[in-house]
Amino acid sequence: MFYLARICNHCDNPACLAACPRKAIYKRDEDGIVLVDESRCRGYQECVRACPYKKVFYNVINRASQKCIGCYPRVEEGKVALCVESCIGKIRLHGFLTTQDEPREDNPFDYIVKIRKAALPLYPQYGTGPNVYYIPPLHVPDGFLEQMFGPGVEQAKETYRNLKNDKKIARRVPAVRLDGIHHRPL
Ligand code: SF4
Ligand code: SF4
Repeated sequence: MFYLARICNHCDNPACLAACPRKAIYKRDEDGIVLVDESRCRGYQECVRACPYKKVFYNVINRASQKCIGCYPRVEEGKVALCVESCIGKIRLHGFLTTQDEPREDNPFDYIVKIRKAALPLYPQYGTGPNVYYIPPLHVPDGFLEQMFGPGVEQAKETYRNLKNDKKIARRVPAVRLDGIHHRPL
């Protein structure tokens, strides 16, 4: 038994956005956050059906679809998302991957996700390019983990087990279990 915090992945290719006949969903260039423009939404709920992660909900009160907003007002102020800040275990990180150039060793998100590949996106086989990354739990049956995180899961677990010997990661990341969200190109 384990608990996996699941928020909107602010995908590279959001299925919710593609499904909306009203073009009410958009992905921001500046940080990659995916938002619903509720003034355009007419409640057709195509996005609710399309998101493979089931992260859009229809609000019957205001008759519009709603989802995680990536805490964009906080991001615009240079702060991390509230779910990251308020996590009492401090196991979550929020930041930007390098998307235009080579991954940088001095960027902790690049280092964990792209260079060491210790954190993986959930259900990559859906093809939406999710941007929340998890260090896979160690004590879960392998077949189940592979279904959730893909074929790289064994290497990710091995990397995690050996993190204590990785001096680079100790310098870069205070807490090594994380969800990381990439938003904008560095
Ligand atoms: S997780 Fe679902 S709601 Fe979020 S961006 Fe991806 S497809 Fe859209
Ligand atoms: S706290 Fe912000 S980033 Fe986290 S789930 Fe809620 S809206 Fe999304």
